[in-house]
Amino acid sequence: MWKNMGLTGKIIVAMILGILLGLLINYLRLNGEGSFVNTYVTNGFFAIVGKLFVNSLKMLVVPLVLISLICGVCGIGDIRLLGRIGGKTFFIYMVTTALAITTAIGLGSLFGIGKGMQIETKAVFEAESAPPLLDVFSNIIPSNPISAMANGDMLSIIFFAMLIGISILMVGKPAKGLVQSLELINEVILKMVTIIMNLAPYGVFALLTKAMAELGFDLIWSLLGYVAVLVGALFFHFFVTMMVILKLTSGLSIRTFLAKMREVQIFAFSTSSSNATIPITLRTVTKRMGVNNSVASFTIPFGATINMDGTAIMQGTATIFIANLYGVQLGITGYLTVILMSVLASIGTAGVPGVGLIMLSMVFAQVGLPVEGIGLILGVDRILDMLRTAVNVGGDAAVTVIVAKSEGEMDLAIYNDPDAGAKEM
Ligand code: ASP
Repeated sequence: MWKNMGLTGKIIVAMILGILLGLLINYLRLNGEGSFVNTYVTNGFFAIVGKLFVNSLKMLVVPLVLISLICGVCGIGDIRLLGRIGGKTFFIYMVTTALAITTAIGLGSLFGIGKGMQIETKAVFEAESAPPLLDVFSNIIPSNPISAMANGDMLSIIFFAMLIGISILMVGKPAKGLVQSLELINEVILKMVTIIMNLAPYGVFALLTKAMAELGFDLIWSLLGYVAVLVGALFFHFFVTMMVILKLTSGLSIRTFLAKMREVQIFAFSTSSSNATIPITLRTVTKRMGVNNSVASFTIPFGATINMDGTAIMQGTATIFIANLYGVQLGITGYLTVILMSVLASIGTAGVPGVGLIMLSMVFAQVGLPVEGIGLILGVDRILDMLRTAVNVGGDAAVTVIVAKSEGEMDLAIYNDPDAGAKEM
């Protein structure tokens, strides 16, 4: 049966089995410090298989973004058009992020989360300083592109790739052979993505077993209000706000979009990293949804770096929760500051696990909330990080589709074909 199952089916089965096995380990408390299961299974076998899988995804991110973006710029062929697509994408990313935080603040205030609550925490949050926001901007131009690639500095890589693409366009006809070779290399890298996707069921199974085995149920229970509002806001933003925007601006089928996004979101959920998911997101929007690579090669890595709707929702919810808990009145200026700071923080948050929480200290500092408050929500953040990352990549793909459709850079026959790009996997 396993043999005849499609890849998506296998990934979903692996996800469910991983969750069940992890919960079982957790329930039987096999996972205690120094126990056999903890040493050899959760932190041994499953940790290694999971790490191998995440590494194999990360391995492709830099070459894929670099080459596909150079090809993308060459494919657009017009620098002014490039500027327009860039501007439009940036604008929609920011507006949707602001909507996301507003939803979070609205729901958080409505349910008054954290009011009159008494909780104890053992976890102490060491306020790791958030990177100064100005650095994010000044580092866009890398002083050393090789080191930017080695460090995976996405904005620098995007800048460098675009500059190469633009220069190739300026060289014009003589560079035609080069463009063809790059397109071929791009195809080869996408083949590598396909190979790795075939290993996904095993990787996803290992990652989820480990994450669920380590879940702190008692903690989730004590923070139920916070967790429930946050999860509600994440679902509302992706399934209602984003889908209404997608339908109204593009007229495309929501059901098709959601069905094709399933794999991408499972990847994001299991890896907690928008960056590591880039190869899958890029492959899905181009090969399965018909978005032209010239748009997607820019909007996807750009979105994985600056567009974090899920993270912004966490930051909005956490702010309300901690403010209520400490009895701090935020007032309307406080709320507006939170919205602005969370949008900025989401630009500065790298698409890797857990960073959203570090950037939260920046938001807290701005509105005068005690940074130690973050220690209270630290224990449940691992699982929430998984969910918000799935929403983060969902937003990147939705905006990509909206921009591509509005620019006529989309093959609707591919979008509407349920099997497009699924067979060759
Ligand atoms: N893990 C998130 C992402 O990669 C970022 C975060 O909120 O920590 O999108």
